Amino acid sequence: MKIAIAGAGAMGCRFGSMLYESGQSVTLVDNWREHVEEIRNNGLRVIHEGGTSAFPLQATTDPATVGVADLVIIFTKAMHTKTVIVNTLPIIGPHTQVLTLQNGLGNVEAITAHVPRERVIAGVTNFGTELVAPGVIRALGSGETSMMRVDGQITEEFLLICDRLNKSGLHVKIEPDVMKIIWKKVAFNAVYNPLAALTRLKTLDIGRYEKFDRLAYGIIDEVVAVAKAENVDIDREDIYTSVQSVLTPEMSGEHLTSMLQDVLAKRETEIAFLNGAIADKAAQYGIAVPYNTLLSHLIRMLETTYSKQ
Ligand code: NAD
Repeated sequence: MKIAIAGAGAMGCRFGSMLYESGQSVTLVDNWREHVEEIRNNGLRVIHEGGTSAFPLQATTDPATVGVADLVIIFTKAMHTKTVIVNTLPIIGPHTQVLTLQNGLGNVEAITAHVPRERVIAGVTNFGTELVAPGVIRALGSGETSMMRVDGQITEEFLLICDRLNKSGLHVKIEPDVMKIIWKKVAFNAVYNPLAALTRLKTLDIGRYEKFDRLAYGIIDEVVAVAKAENVDIDREDIYTSVQSVLTPEMSGEHLTSMLQDVLAKRETEIAFLNGAIADKAAQYGIAVPYNTLLSHLIRMLETTYSKQ
């Protein structure tokens, strides 16, 4: 299967290396020139528990040179989805399937504005990866990838993609309700991402706070209320269980959340697509979401004052 990965940072490179290793034809497409050059010259290096492996993956900054792919995986941060999908159109032919496993709200809408719903697959993944340097990533343990076609249909093409991902070790779980899994992950990230970015703590230490339950439920209940207004039925206890489940060193409790990594590196975060999106949608429905509103303001304040920090 010919696969192009648009936005080949930490996760794009992780998925790219795993798909390549299982025999797929993979091209990484990223607008970060130094990173692409490094991969072209020295291969993509993946640091894992057993050492470092190098993969001679094709990489380019120019989507026009790739040709039409069978599958395009969008793996930019959420704030770049609108741009990347337009730039990627030369790779998307009449039969190309487009998969997003990005975090946050709005990615599916940005993609389906340009690609018919019946060729868009969405979902979430809990594989964790860090970008260490241009051309170098660190694979953080294993995980699972839950996904479904946006139109809810299970077709042969969809099952073939699931099979290719499974053969690469990406552990696909087909989930009937794709918006439900996306919102559940948004609720999960809405708890840990801003709290970690503001306190600079690891998830494990956030979970040790004596009133963590109250704080987490405060954020989760607001997300659940807004999801309900959008006809997405997610369960607070189910989300709280997933929040609790990572509070061990084995389950990424020792890792820095991506928003904390972004803030430490003085980069834009995905806050507008997490707590910020909840606050915006809540305002439309007249729902009060004080926890999410305050958290999104505080992160935005951090982001806009990097030069003074
Ligand atoms: P990242 O910042 O490491 O990679 C994003 C890449 O997109 C960068 O290399 C950047 O240069 C590239 N990019 C930006 N705009 C582009 C454009 N217009 N054209 C081409 N390339 C462009 O991010 P990441 O950590 O890989 O995360 C990607 C998505 O996956 C996010 O939504 C994130 O929340 C989600 N996610 C990340 C992890 C993780 O462990 N890193 C886990 C699960 C989900």
